[in-house]
Amino acid sequence: MREIETDYLVVGAGASGMAFVDALIAADANADVVIVDRRHRPGGHWLDAYPFVRLHQPSANYGVNQRVLGTDRIDDSGPNAGFYERATATEIISYFSDVLDAVLVPSGRVRFFGMCDYRGGPEEHRLVSRVSGEETAVRVRRRLVDATYLSSSIPSTHTPGFDIDPGVRVVPPNDLVNLSEAAAGYTVVGAGKTAMDTCNWLMDEGVAPDRIRWIRPRDAWVQDRTYLQPLELVGSYLQLQAHWVQAAAESSDGSGFAHRLEAAGVFARIDPGVEPDAYRGAILSTRELESLRRIENVVRLGRVNRIASDQVLLERGTVRSGAGQVFVDCTAAGTPTTATRPVFEADRITLQLVTIGFTPWSAATVGAVEGLREDDADKNRLCSPLTFSGRISDVLELSHVGMSGLSLRSAEPDLAAWNETSRLNPAGGAAAHLGEPRVLSALESLAANIGPAMSNLARLVGTTSEPPGSLV
Ligand SMILES: Cc1cc2nc3c(=O)[nH]c(=O)nc-3n(C[C@H](O)[C@H](O)[C@H](O)COP(=O)(O)OP(=O)(O)OC[C@H]3O[C@@H](n4cnc5c(N)ncnc54)[C@H](O)[C@@H]3O)c2cc1C
Repeated sequence: MREIETDYLVVGAGASGMAFVDALIAADANADVVIVDRRHRPGGHWLDAYPFVRLHQPSANYGVNQRVLGTDRIDDSGPNAGFYERATATEIISYFSDVLDAVLVPSGRVRFFGMCDYRGGPEEHRLVSRVSGEETAVRVRRRLVDATYLSSSIPSTHTPGFDIDPGVRVVPPNDLVNLSEAAAGYTVVGAGKTAMDTCNWLMDEGVAPDRIRWIRPRDAWVQDRTYLQPLELVGSYLQLQAHWVQAAAESSDGSGFAHRLEAAGVFARIDPGVEPDAYRGAILSTRELESLRRIENVVRLGRVNRIASDQVLLERGTVRSGAGQVFVDCTAAGTPTTATRPVFEADRITLQLVTIGFTPWSAATVGAVEGLREDDADKNRLCSPLTFSGRISDVLELSHVGMSGLSLRSAEPDLAAWNETSRLNPAGGAAAHLGEPRVLSALESLAANIGPAMSNLARLVGTTSEPPGSLV
């Protein structure tokens, strides 16, 4: 068996692993890294994404720190008009390949093992090629980095959790582009962003809303894309932060928090008559939201248990299957709800969210902290992990962890400087916009509310509050 040595063995070359490695080697000039992935190229789940997917957030803050994704263009036409561009899956895959080939490998400190499974445990680390079968033993001098902890489950590679009778046509959204003739109707199954994208894509392709039935087990709070704009439009993101912090100061539960943000125009729901209990950070434009509201045939009978030829059996009832229906499976979990564990442990790093959303920003933050700090207790203090449980009832706890981490890191000059200049930070560069009235009003609101918000959140989640710092 071949044997190699490295400082860090990173398992997973998705957005998390790539953003971590890029930030680590920039912060620690001596670190040597081996990345392993069972896929042939970096990019993770994007390699199997449905073809009409786009990033949910602007490309400007996605990817790795050292290389821009896209051209930081504000679209002037089409459905994304007025907003920063959002990359397609093809663009993201090409980008991560470029990062590997033009940034990481040329550093001379990063090696990539594609088409290899990581197998091993605390004592031994083995990479097994899925093509040749060759095994490589890896001696890890510093740490194993688990960049699979937040691996996304997506429709094209998951197995639906319901039974499908013979003859019923169930496809992942990926297969819609291969249809050769129109279906009598489309039943979209799932409540998340993939289902929202699929419904909107069908209508954009000319399918009338009354030919779409949407089996939506839960309703979710969504975020208005207007408030997630960086760079020249960073004032909008600062307003989101200001509204978020004010709501955190004034709310006693997640539902109250969501209603405050809805009143501010930051949160929205597809059906104003239904109280959502879900929140997974989905981002929609007003146009997308209004389009989804045109679908009136919404089935709210819980999850699907079985699709038979004549009926769909759900948790709380049945509906007719309908002849010639194409069922579109959008039930994959996306980002998993995992229990948090310390990010830094003696021989491993487990990449998790340390910011509220924005996976690459979180992974890069962990990479920078690993490169810039020595003591694990200090690193963990600066990088408390948070979980998106998918429930709005947990949003205040999530806010407490995310805001505390941001505040603690902002009190450390080197980390604050790293964050201010990081392209992955959606508030990066805000200091250059202090002349804008909405930036000033957002900063004033943040200054007034951050202390009360941290105290209120600490009281609600039963911990002591961190001294308020900057969230920008
Ligand atoms: C459609 C969609 C859109 C999204 N949009 C955004 C967005 O705009 N912004 C945002 O922040 N987040 C977004 N997300 C969340 C998403 O989870 C992250 O952006 C990110 O792409 C996840 O990257 P990851 O590296 O954590 O996981 P993955 O992309 O799943 O990568 C994990 C990798 O680990 C590899 N692997 C797993 N086990 C092993 C093993 N034993 N051996 C070898 N390799 C292994 C896998 O092959 C995979 O390549 C989106 C998610 C989806 C599904």
